[in-house]
Amino acid sequence: MSVAGGLNKMTERRPRTYSTKAIVIGQRDYVDSARIITILSPEFGKREIVARGLLKPKSRLAGHLEPGTYCQLEIAVGRNLDIIREAQTIEMFREARSDLQSLTIFLYALDLADKFSLEDTGGELFNPLLTVIQRIAGGYPHSVSIRSFEFELLDSSGFRPVLDQCIHCGSDVPAEDAVWSPTDGGVVLKQCLDNVQRVSSISSRALKVLRAYQEWDFDQLVTIAVDSSLELELSSVMHDLMKTVLERELKSANLVEEVRWWQVSNDHVTKPN
Ligand SMILES: [Zn+2]
Repeated sequence: MSVAGGLNKMTERRPRTYSTKAIVIGQRDYVDSARIITILSPEFGKREIVARGLLKPKSRLAGHLEPGTYCQLEIAVGRNLDIIREAQTIEMFREARSDLQSLTIFLYALDLADKFSLEDTGGELFNPLLTVIQRIAGGYPHSVSIRSFEFELLDSSGFRPVLDQCIHCGSDVPAEDAVWSPTDGGVVLKQCLDNVQRVSSISSRALKVLRAYQEWDFDQLVTIAVDSSLELELSSVMHDLMKTVLERELKSANLVEEVRWWQVSNDHVTKPN
């Protein structure tokens, strides 16, 4: 940088307030009645911001900053954390909160957006997140909606799983002969098993559906019928992969599976056949 450029930089003043559209992806305790809100903005990505007085009964911010709310924010630059001045809901996505299964998948999508972005990065995840929330709220099959989002996150972070070729030798893998390795991020031929780390089984129909999820357009994917046992296998395989890529536990993913298991076993009790 030139001397003049450096001087200009020093005298440049950061604006005191700014506005942005954002999706609230998290919320946690702070001092007194304030909460720390984590937002994802298309402009600057993930940022933690203080909402003062949010827990007070008459807070005008309350109701606009629930996790999953799409909102318009006016933000003041703070010394440490920035501070929310105004918040207006653009969309609450009530339908995505209307039943337990939708709600758990909705919260899982928010958690993924949070975990896949660092402070002041991840703006490119805003549109995919908004799309998956709109699909969950819009009554599209949850399985397709959330898997498409997972694949988008994996692609954008450089962890696209290899589903057609053996990750050890590169040979084509027939779906019937495939073993799955979340740690190596793909399928492996049975004869190459000794050369990869942790492996688990994957059914041929689950693998075929995952291959479609990775390649096809959303409009084509919604035509694939996914029964509950297949859906459980798909979510278990993909949740395991997401946790492995992130190198951390995902409680929101465990909750999705628990609710699904509970519903499947309940269906068997009420509808014997
Ligand atoms: Zn191989």
